[in-house]
Amino acid sequence: MAYTGKVLVTGAGGFIGHHLVSELKRQGYWVRGADLKYPEYNTTDAHEFLQLDLRRWEHCVQATEGVDEVYALAADMGGMGFISAHHAQILHNNSLINLHTLEAARTNGVKRYLYTSSACVYPEYKQLDTQVTPLKEEDAYPAQPQDAYGWEKLIAERLCQHYREDYHIETRIVRFHNIFGPLGTWDGGREKAPAAICRKVAVAKLNGAHEIDIWGDGEQTRSFCYIDDCVTGICKLMRSTYTEPLNLGQDRLISINELTDLVAHIAGVRIAKAHVPGPQGVRGRNSDNTRLRQVLGWEPAISLEEGLARTYQWIETQVRQDVKAKAA
Ligand code: NAD
Repeated sequence: MAYTGKVLVTGAGGFIGHHLVSELKRQGYWVRGADLKYPEYNTTDAHEFLQLDLRRWEHCVQATEGVDEVYALAADMGGMGFISAHHAQILHNNSLINLHTLEAARTNGVKRYLYTSSACVYPEYKQLDTQVTPLKEEDAYPAQPQDAYGWEKLIAERLCQHYREDYHIETRIVRFHNIFGPLGTWDGGREKAPAAICRKVAVAKLNGAHEIDIWGDGEQTRSFCYIDDCVTGICKLMRSTYTEPLNLGQDRLISINELTDLVAHIAGVRIAKAHVPGPQGVRGRNSDNTRLRQVLGWEPAISLEEGLARTYQWIETQVRQDVKAKAA
């Protein structure tokens, strides 16, 4: 089905935003992207791309002008290493982005607004075990997220709810669980576990070192969702009538040690793990997809093996190019 209408994707220079722009354009929308930066690894498919700082009110007004719908993905964020070391920066910057983007959307008459929240909203006390009970949407309260990042997401979720009730802007709220795939940050300090492990394995393979560092004992567990499923889920939720927060992730629990073994198998190498001190986040986290299935009649289907194979190939290519560039 071909869609018409004008949409804005904020964070369009980032990992998920970049993929989402391509999909929305493919579906027939006119797409504006906005971000501090252009996508790092590929050119954008956006019809118009505005380089803006969405902490600033006037930039948010410019970004949301003349569009029917907003997909709000802009955020100052990264993996555990970044999130656990930048609480004040994250809470400050993302609060400004969220407050100004939603208010500017309202004043510009935007009809529908999708906010990208996170599994990081869930309370620490429900995630103490590696064999964690999958998290249902209502588990978010009583609230006790581990990091400022989770608090900021919870507040923005409430903001969306109240704007819908008080100002009748149609809001949608999605809680992602560890999205990964090609064209995501893979080095520099903001990368997340799957990309970091792919990079470390690729470097070890090319160096012939065959040992990599893992933060903690590696028994911490998560579920991981491939980017194509994530983009499909976002589009389905935006077109649905569902207004409450909704999980979007896989529900296959796997430890970081097992994830490393999987990547090593894909790379065709044997990898020893050196367990070193480092931020690990909660002990275990998994998505309960009951409501996702009920609401969207769908859930992520691309296997971890398939997604990791595509991601590893892309990251190994990046690592090879990086080595070549440094040697030149
Ligand atoms: P990303 O870091 O790749 O993209 C975020 C983008 O926001 C970046 O390109 C960044 O430049 C932009 N940005 C930051 N500050 C800005 C500002 N002041 N003005 C304009 N743009 C700004 O992250 P992502 O993985 O694509 O995540 C997208 C959204 O999904 C974020 O809101 C994130 O919190 C959420 N999320 C992602 C995951 C995941 O696993 N990737 C999990 C949970 C939630």
